Amino acid sequence: MNIILLGPPGAGKGTQAARLVAKHGMRQLSTGDMLRAAVKAQTPVGLEAKAVMDRGELVSDAIVSALIDEELASMGADTGAIFDGYPRTGAQAEALDALLAKHSRKLDHVIELEVNEDALVERITGRFTCANCGEGYHDTFKQPKAEGVCDKCGSTEFKRRPDDNEETVRTRMTEYRAKTAPILPIYDARGIVTRIDGMADIDEVSESIERVLAS
Ligand code: ADP
Ligand code: ADP
Ligand code: ZN
Repeated sequence: MNIILLGPPGAGKGTQAARLVAKHGMRQLSTGDMLRAAVKAQTPVGLEAKAVMDRGELVSDAIVSALIDEELASMGADTGAIFDGYPRTGAQAEALDALLAKHSRKLDHVIELEVNEDALVERITGRFTCANCGEGYHDTFKQPKAEGVCDKCGSTEFKRRPDDNEETVRTRMTEYRAKTAPILPIYDARGIVTRIDGMADIDEVSESIERVLAS
């Protein structure tokens, strides 16, 4: 199974991808996570990407498609792929078609998480993750069960992304509207898009995604 999770920043792609990984043993291919790892490791790609990411603009198509190619090459043929935050432009959508063919994979579903833009700023500015295991949380919508302690691994260290501020989020939303939303018709024409209400509770969104995977 190969699926794309599509939606603006804060739509819930990462949250839902993590659940699919836990439930189905699929692999999450998040270009955002890969880029953040490259920035942290100060690789050439990371050094080039950092300023672009801090502004909320898009990193070059060639860089992100190369990251996806490497990841697909490292995966077993029967491990499912969840594309999270990729593709984000028409050129990336074309590159993905070529990469899927190269790695003998076929796209099964494109799931669009539909969200109200006004809610996204609150989702993004309240977002934080466990510094140890990466589990995602939110100040209002998903606090750890015991205050200050990660539910999953017990760590007490958390972190926030430097680009999760209101100004950068506005740029990221503009980028999404201008460059990413226009790729949906490509997949609509193939009849593989399902739209899900991303404003529902996290559990309800998961249930809707499970229904799509079972269909
Ligand atoms: P979010 O989940 O909030 O949408 P991501 O973690 O996916 O954010 O991406 C963070 C930043 O990394 C983006 O603002 C952009 O600069 C860069 N980025 C991630 N994926 C891509 C991509 N597919 N193409 C170009 N830039 C990307
Ligand atoms: P994305 O990967 O699309 O940028 P995330 O999955 O990181 O989005 O979610 C952004 C923030 O919103 C996180 O803090 C997450 O805990 C929270 N969140 C995710 N899904 C929901 C939901 N359905 N309702 C309320 N908050 C949510
Ligand atoms: Zn943790």
